[in-house]
Amino acid sequence: MNTSDKNSPFAEETRLIHAGRAPEKFGGAVNIPPFRASTVLFPTLAALDAYDPALRSVRYGRTGNPSSHAFEAAMTELEEGHDGVSFASGLQAITSSLLAFTRQGDHVLIADTAYAPTRGFANGILSRAGVTVEYFDPAIGAGITGLLRPTTRIVFLESPGSLTFEVQDVPAIVTAVSAANADIVLMIDNTWAAGLLFKPLKHGVHVSIQSATKYVGGHSDASLGVAICARQDHWMRLKKAAVELGACASADDLFLGLRGLRSLPVRMRRHHESGIKVARWLETRAEVTRVRHPALSTCPGHDLWKRDFTGACGLFAFEMAAVPRAALAAMVDGMAHFGMGYSWGGFESLILPSNPAPIRTAKPWAGGELIRLHIGLEDADDLMSDLDAGFDRLNAALEAR
Ligand SMILES: *Cc1c(COP(=O)(O)O)cnc(C)c1O
Repeated sequence: MNTSDKNSPFAEETRLIHAGRAPEKFGGAVNIPPFRASTVLFPTLAALDAYDPALRSVRYGRTGNPSSHAFEAAMTELEEGHDGVSFASGLQAITSSLLAFTRQGDHVLIADTAYAPTRGFANGILSRAGVTVEYFDPAIGAGITGLLRPTTRIVFLESPGSLTFEVQDVPAIVTAVSAANADIVLMIDNTWAAGLLFKPLKHGVHVSIQSATKYVGGHSDASLGVAICARQDHWMRLKKAAVELGACASADDLFLGLRGLRSLPVRMRRHHESGIKVARWLETRAEVTRVRHPALSTCPGHDLWKRDFTGACGLFAFEMAAVPRAALAAMVDGMAHFGMGYSWGGFESLILPSNPAPIRTAKPWAGGELIRLHIGLEDADDLMSDLDAGFDRLNAALEAR
């Protein structure tokens, strides 16, 4: 259902307010009610016979319903694509997309910055199915052509990486791969940009995938994924795979995804502003050796980010000189506003020590261990005070040794 109107005179923020809604079909309700239904009844044999998946008629809850159709239409508008498929999680959107376009003997190239569970699937089930998986240096650019094989079927990008924040030259990779072999399917994990700050399909990427669990949901209470395709044939193939796999999203999470989408641009502006403020402040701290935030000119990939993105989200990382685990614990265990946890994109701030080194295989990680921050919607000064007190605890623990 392609509702995106490239000639619309309205700004994106305005279009996202309307995207996927249909009050006239639901008794005037502003929002699409969650369509909690497995069984769908047909009044007549003629209606049963008239079922056509391409027309998005509804046959059975799992294979598509008004909740999933509305969410897919709205996300298609956001990503400026042709059509989408929704999934129960971002990871399911990724794994289903990789499976949909591969078969035994194929070769798949994946950016070394890819989300670790994406690698888990590629190294596990995908490899066992006979697909050869190879990782590439995210800085490769047009040099990716040197890695292409006659059997290469997918090139999978993720930019910036959600742990190390290296930005890829997506336009250069897309141009080089497409010129070498137009049959290769270009995919990207676009979760960091939330579909808002970067428009991969406009650059020639074929499938833009995101975890709507993160910014689109925005409230840390839903599990949802989506893959938006630029082409009808790709969409049909992916939709068929989703049906074969039994992949579907829950009506309640689709509802939350649609609700979150309405405020996405406003929230992202705040994440952008507060994130940059905290990142710049961290750069002035003696404890901090490096801040990895694409909007800072000191971050590798900054020029690419500036060229291709319209903003930043609230997720970035910083490095410190190596400290004993107990001193690090003194810092992160006592935070007032930063919770410690995986995930991100909610209204709340998070802190997560992590080490990219064991995850990377294409090119060894040249940096140190990271502390990843998600800057939420709290007051930025309160967040800096919290980090300031954390550094004090860290320094006290180091002095007490
Ligand atoms: C969280 C995340 C995913 C997976 O999303 P889920 O909805 O948790 O399955 C995929 N990619 C990135 C970059 C993520 O951060």
